[in-house]
Amino acid sequence: MNADLIVVGLGAMGSAACFQLAKRGAGVIGIDRYSPPHTLGSTHGETRITRQAIGEGEHFVPFALRSYEIWREIEAETGEDLLTVTGGLIIAGASGHSLHGSSDFLQTTIDAAVKYGITHRILDAAEIASEFPQFTIDGGEQAYYEDAAGFLRPEACVAAQLGMAEKLGATLRRNERVVRIEEDGNGVKVVTDRGSYTAGRAIVSAGPWVNELMPDAPAGLLKVYRQVLHWFDVSDAYESFALGRSPIFVWACGRGEDDFFYGFPAIGGRDGGIKIATETFRETTVPDEADRTVSAEEPAGLFSRYVSARLKGVGEKCLKSAVCLYTMTPNSNFVIDRISEKVIVASPCSGHGFKHSAAIGESLAELSLIARTTIDISPFSLTRFSDQKKRLSEKSIR
Ligand SMILES: Cc1cc2nc3c(=O)[nH]c(=O)nc-3n(C[C@H](O)[C@H](O)[C@H](O)COP(=O)(O)OP(=O)(O)OC[C@H]3O[C@@H](n4cnc5c(N)ncnc54)[C@H](O)[C@@H]3O)c2cc1C
Repeated sequence: MNADLIVVGLGAMGSAACFQLAKRGAGVIGIDRYSPPHTLGSTHGETRITRQAIGEGEHFVPFALRSYEIWREIEAETGEDLLTVTGGLIIAGASGHSLHGSSDFLQTTIDAAVKYGITHRILDAAEIASEFPQFTIDGGEQAYYEDAAGFLRPEACVAAQLGMAEKLGATLRRNERVVRIEEDGNGVKVVTDRGSYTAGRAIVSAGPWVNELMPDAPAGLLKVYRQVLHWFDVSDAYESFALGRSPIFVWACGRGEDDFFYGFPAIGGRDGGIKIATETFRETTVPDEADRTVSAEEPAGLFSRYVSARLKGVGEKCLKSAVCLYTMTPNSNFVIDRISEKVIVASPCSGHGFKHSAAIGESLAELSLIARTTIDISPFSLTRFSDQKKRLSEKSIR
């Protein structure tokens, strides 16, 4: 089978790329080893935070803003509920706010909001306590509040974009694993466990499996970490944390690098729990060997470290947990670049990629079809890892 483009991996990034390519009239084959949305990669767990002023760096803001527009377009087209605006609170403790590669997450967020004219307010500790009494405030905190922040429903976003891509003529091959990508002067040949396909170009958006398709990538460029999401009992505090009353929040506690947790309103009603998580980077894993079970100590540890002293009335009982995988670059930035003349790789995770994924799909489509993008993707280039880029382009992609 032949196409203009083959997209390998149909999660957050691949589904967006397929939709945007098909929308532009390109012949697309999308291939996934499972049937997305699924629970084995990086794109599940009911919700993803979205915000417009991006504390990870202002170079992300155009992706976030454009993604808002695309999510709303897709909602209008499909009738699906993808983006819920709840307001968003970034709280920083008195002793530092380093997070996701940003040495001062709060200030970077504020600067980005000012630069892009994003509606926001700065709150001192007394104001946070008075406006958001569901949170216990020590006294030294500062916060940024953004009206437009909220959450996305990742599974619905993937399903909607794949559905629209198919409607527009894309061919989707589910439960088919790509084993290698060969490149010659004419294009690419994508070999799977069921056959092979040819196209002018390929986009590799394989999430935590990306290293398998780039075996020559330097060790350490993209590392995979197991993360866990927990839903705690909110029945005694439901009114305070209900959807419509409580914002999404990111709380940088300031006891060291990445000392933070984040959470959502209780979107599943009184008995649905409240989803809370942090990040851990103790050891790397690979997707097919990652431990998918969750021990009782994991939610208990999160509860005692972050929740019990800060979220009033949230119960220690953990209703459910989910294991999900981060693919990290050394500085929490993204990789969106060509790895050879005919193959583009998109690894925008580092724990904060979903909110940008609709616009990243658009940039991937532009890059592969017209070799330039409306949004500047140079900050996501592999040249930031310069010697690694050289080694990558010198070797074949398997
Ligand atoms: C716990 C957690 C919380 C997060 N919270 C947020 C948040 O609040 N806000 C935010 O913006 N971002 C967040 N993120 C990040 C965001 O979810 C990721 O950036 C995004 O989901 C990455 O999507 P992806 O397309 O790269 O990977 P995936 O969605 O995992 O897609 C990769 C796809 O490739 C397929 N594949 C792999 N190998 C092959 C192969 N050989 N052949 C065929 N198919 C293949 C897989 O089956 C999979 O479907 C979070 C991530 C996690 C894990």
